[in-house]
Amino acid sequence: MPPDAPAIRLRGLEKVYGGGQRALDQVSLEVPRGTLFGLLGPNGAGKSTLINILAGLVTKTGGTAEVWGFDIDRNPRNAKASIGVVPQELLFDAFFTPFETLELQAGLYGIPKAHRRTLELLRAVQLEDKAHAYARTLSGGMKRRLLIAKAMVHSPPVLILDEPTAGVDIELRQLLWDWVRSLHAKGMTIVLTTHYLEEAQELCERIAIMNHGRVIANAPTRELLGLAREKRVDVMFDANTAALPEIAGITRVERLAERHFAIHYDRTRLSAGALLGQLSAAGLAIVDVTTREADLEDVFLDLTRRRTA
Ligand code: ADP
Repeated sequence: MPPDAPAIRLRGLEKVYGGGQRALDQVSLEVPRGTLFGLLGPNGAGKSTLINILAGLVTKTGGTAEVWGFDIDRNPRNAKASIGVVPQELLFDAFFTPFETLELQAGLYGIPKAHRRTLELLRAVQLEDKAHAYARTLSGGMKRRLLIAKAMVHSPPVLILDEPTAGVDIELRQLLWDWVRSLHAKGMTIVLTTHYLEEAQELCERIAIMNHGRVIANAPTRELLGLAREKRVDVMFDANTAALPEIAGITRVERLAERHFAIHYDRTRLSAGALLGQLSAAGLAIVDVTTREADLEDVFLDLTRRRTA
């Protein structure tokens, strides 16, 4: 294994399910070591399929996949040992305590007792005082943290978090974010799938966006934000306005309040100046204007719509 191999390298990865459903179509992707990487895409884009292939739960039908330089076909044991996956579902055996859950998992990975880090891991996810409580008495947030600890018993260099904050309250989400940040600061490679674009924008240094089984964008987060073709300007008029005039380049108008509109426009066809000029020319008196930086949601909608149109 070359020491500089990326944490994850996919080349032409394909998955066609039994029923003929093509979930991954020539996916080539590299996750550099030490990156906090976001994998985004609408439902059905193929994210779970990709993760499940890396976790050894789904068999690919084409292409290659490597984890930490280990090919999942030629070196499945090492590939598997290099990755920890935190699944979406909070599935546990209710009769095991957190301590037993981690010990059992360590056993599955063949980690000798002397090398286990059970208490240390429980401490890291703030479950030390619940070490011997039954799993069924844990709250949803505690279960989520236990799953994270479980994915880390074999000290993998790569951690995949599949929708880690789905259904999690804001306070716990913040805690999880802090924790992900601290793992990343320690050098861990982390791949995060999330529906919360704000979360990806906030946490991830690099983001890949999938749609219909393909990677349609893969860039540093900052660069990606600059890709938004659609921009937005919020305009307040001096009087109630029923509708805005037709202006070429406007893609969408939202009414925020009686006199207040969010106008989305295609920056390749229209500038904010020209847009405001045309509104004035149509007899609308503008009393206030705010322009907004594109956020990841703009980029996401832009890209996923553009490529499917
Ligand atoms: P995501 O995680 O991005 O929502 P998935 O990987 O779950 O996407 O799904 C990608 C596509 O593959 C979808 O069209 C989905 O219906 C299909 N798919 C997923 N799992 C199976 C399966 N076990 N059998 C058949 N088709 C599947």
